[in-house]
Amino acid sequence: MLEHEEMGRQIIRGIQEVIHANVTKLDALDRAIGDGDHGTNLDRGFTAVWAKIESQDDQSLAAVLKTTATTLISTVGGAAGPLYGTAFLRASTAIAQSNDEPVRQTAVAFAAALEGVQARGKATTGEKTMVDALAPAVEAIAAAVDAGADTVTVLDRAAIAARAGMEATIPMLATKGRASYLGERSIGHQDPGATSCYLIIQVIADTMRDRSARA
Ligand code: ADP
Ligand code: MG
Repeated sequence: MLEHEEMGRQIIRGIQEVIHANVTKLDALDRAIGDGDHGTNLDRGFTAVWAKIESQDDQSLAAVLKTTATTLISTVGGAAGPLYGTAFLRASTAIAQSNDEPVRQTAVAFAAALEGVQARGKATTGEKTMVDALAPAVEAIAAAVDAGADTVTVLDRAAIAARAGMEATIPMLATKGRASYLGERSIGHQDPGATSCYLIIQVIADTMRDRSARA
């Protein structure tokens, strides 16, 4: 149980660090097709999230993800706060309601996160948003779980798919969010939200690989 409790903290700490390290990059991507605040928004959010998590009693994964969600929703302005907030909230609920083995919990949590983002933002793939990184990750997870892969492998596949999805946003025309105001001029730029989404999935995969190497 203690081991499991550490997991949520490690994941959120990892996310906070990777977002902080990429503020300038994410802001620059958003400056090209938006208003230049995506990195700053998420950095403010995850800094607040980490402060809350450090001081909270319930360190179960579901509780940590729930605090992440509510804090992101209340501290991050713009499109990404409520979208990521919904993703973490749905993931938290899915994990709280599942007694399945960890690899299957991973799959239901990611699928629920995607459903949440899509319910909230109404974007589908090909619209140059975070959905273009998250949806391929969810597909890769389902395929890997079906093939009998372990959690570390499943998350590695997710990160590889999210990265490809992020890169695939470059030639896309934005049809959702602020970037859609640019029309054709949005083409040729990587989407900031797809980039942060890839970074988050990669750090989850890295955290789980580290944990399993130590076990
Ligand atoms: P804002 O656009 O309000 O300044 P951010 O800059 O923090 O918010 O986030 C922008 C990112 O949000 C985009 O790069 C995109 O990936 C994502 N996004 C915007 N609208 C949607 C939507 N409807 N569905 C999914 N993702 C979206
Ligand atoms: Mg912005």
